[in-house]
Amino acid sequence: MPLSRLRLSNFRNLVDVDLDIPAGVSVFYGENAQGKTTLVEAVYILAIARSFRAENDRELVNFGAAGKGDLALVEGLVADQEAGSPKRVIVGYRVTNPDNPSGTGYRTSKEIRVDRARRTAGELVGLVHAVLFTALDIELVQGPPSGRRRFLDILISQADPLYLKTLQRYQQVLRQRNRLLRMRRDGRATHEEMEYWDSELVKEGAWLTWRRHEVMKVLTPSCVRHHKDLSGSGENLDLYYRPSVPLAQCSDGTADNYRELLERISSREAATAATAAGPHRDDFDIIVNGLDMGAYASRGQARTLALALRLGEAETLSSVRGREPLLLLDDVLSEMDAARRRRVLEKASQYPQVLITTTDPEQVTGFCGAGAFYFRVGEGRVLPLDGVP
Ligand code: ATP
Ligand code: MG
Repeated sequence: MPLSRLRLSNFRNLVDVDLDIPAGVSVFYGENAQGKTTLVEAVYILAIARSFRAENDRELVNFGAAGKGDLALVEGLVADQEAGSPKRVIVGYRVTNPDNPSGTGYRTSKEIRVDRARRTAGELVGLVHAVLFTALDIELVQGPPSGRRRFLDILISQADPLYLKTLQRYQQVLRQRNRLLRMRRDGRATHEEMEYWDSELVKEGAWLTWRRHEVMKVLTPSCVRHHKDLSGSGENLDLYYRPSVPLAQCSDGTADNYRELLERISSREAATAATAAGPHRDDFDIIVNGLDMGAYASRGQARTLALALRLGEAETLSSVRGREPLLLLDDVLSEMDAARRRRVLEKASQYPQVLITTTDPEQVTGFCGAGAFYFRVGEGRVLPLDGVP
């Protein structure tokens, strides 16, 4: 199982938590604003090396601790399939100016350690595989393309360490190229100076495009199957990857297409001083019975589609990396009818480890009963229960 122990210190309102996390389904229940999402947020940090909801890392440090200059720590004992023995992962946040009088201007620095050795975010991602389901996932269907790109990026980064490295490099190249485009518009750079950045953009961008295309081929049939199971037979899902750069038969051919495209749009880019083509402009369409769900999904349809995307993400991670991810279900059961809840719990409980948060434990006890473990979350504490609440 992916995670055997979790310790939190000064992480938002969870000041001191130390838990053995069992295999199977664990249910964290409690009233609103007690720390349920905070717990899931911490676990997901061990997987993707950043918070899924904080605008700024300073939010993560407990208010009282920040003023005293204390660290916020997320610590997990995680399985490492390659090494055999578990690894200790620590992500720490330190406020660097605790004496800031207003208390709102804290700056934080983040430090990651795996078995004591310092690691970058890129080195951590891929060690713990996790898939997070949240009530905000509806935005995957109805929200802007950036959310769908992030979905693909998190999935592929966990599956393939080279992907995150290439993505980071691409983003760096993109910033440089945009800066140069602005300088050229102001007459401070020449066309020749662009050439190096063009070729770097094409190299990294074509590789990312191709990798997304390959993963979409695994992801799509999986999402289609889960969607059918969840929605019944009348709805036929399809996902269409819409890369900004036209795909060729291979990665190299896609790079040729990218180069040609940049030439075609060069006068537009010169005018706007912004890179107009590349993976930062990709999207995928979610189509049901011929209708684009971005525009036409009902709320219930969008929720079901979001679940199918997350279940597809989990299955794709399993098949690409040969091990099953940790599933994190943050407050997603309350919006489902009983039949759908049952189907989702059935699917989720086939994974080796599932953490579920809810305000109402009965949403799980009916299906899992004594087959799950229960934890009460209240007033910043997380207490394991002996039986079923
Ligand atoms: P809900 O059922 O409403 O989703 P929850 O149990 O998921 O609630 P969390 O989102 O985990 O609640 O938030 C728990 C509490 O932590 C909130 O009251 C929030 O204001 C508080 N909180 C957030 N950041 C900090 C921080 N840096 N220091 C102290 N408390 C914080
Ligand atoms: Mg919550």
